[in-house]
Amino acid sequence: MRILCVHAHFDDFEFVAAGTFELFRLKHAGNFRAKVLVCTDGRSGHHWRTPQETARIRLEEQAAAAAIGGYEFERLARPDGSPFGEARLPSNDLLAALWKSIRDFEPDYLFCPPLPADTRAGVHPDHITVADAVRRVAYMINVPHAFVDDYPEEGKAEARWIRTPVILNTWDSYIGDGPQSAPDLVVDVSETFDQIARQSWCHQSQIREWLPWVGRHGIAPVETLDQWEASLRQRFSNQRLSLGLGEGAPVEVFSLTSWGQVADRDQLTRDFPAFQLKPCR
Ligand SMILES: [Zn+2]
Repeated sequence: MRILCVHAHFDDFEFVAAGTFELFRLKHAGNFRAKVLVCTDGRSGHHWRTPQETARIRLEEQAAAAAIGGYEFERLARPDGSPFGEARLPSNDLLAALWKSIRDFEPDYLFCPPLPADTRAGVHPDHITVADAVRRVAYMINVPHAFVDDYPEEGKAEARWIRTPVILNTWDSYIGDGPQSAPDLVVDVSETFDQIARQSWCHQSQIREWLPWVGRHGIAPVETLDQWEASLRQRFSNQRLSLGLGEGAPVEVFSLTSWGQVADRDQLTRDFPAFQLKPCR
């Protein structure tokens, strides 16, 4: 069992899928790999650190979170090793790098942000760039020479058949409460919540510096991990209410797409941690 989260920024994974990834690990113990792919360079998104320092710290923070979460971590890069900037539209070299990275890992399940269908929805430009890029590249995952100009070695050997993953969208806070559609899968992450707190606490330059300053996320600076866990519980509680799920346990939610392989209920039941399917609003 291999699962991959493709997202825009350092910390996004911890806010949308870390608890579910840990539940996957518990369910598939001994036969499991998890990976997080970050598609931007991490230079933006700080108000007093230099872009170079911000990028370096964000890499260190994600590596610390990966050590707790036991997942592999990669910052997406072009063949020459250069990462991708922020606030950009999807480019051909982004699609090519994504294609190569997904093929190399060959996940069973791929998690990425959603593309909002409602024009009233808010967006983070980097999140929709990643969502759009994953969607555009999904069919090409098992097309061996799709990006052969960028990766000429792919054209030299006989092509290997590459499994196309089931692709699910994560919850996205930028979309807002009103237009966000009801999720398909609701995963109770009570059992792994302390790990979500410890992993997200690694992103100190975000949760104690940048996110309180930018002031769009309802995150106030805190001093201790215990305070952070309490604040995170409140955030998860608010998320439940905004999704029409009422009071209850902390959950992570996902929507199914037809971008890749389409999973049926039996497959999801076999592979996924325990979930609730399509709750009514
Ligand atoms: Zn983000």
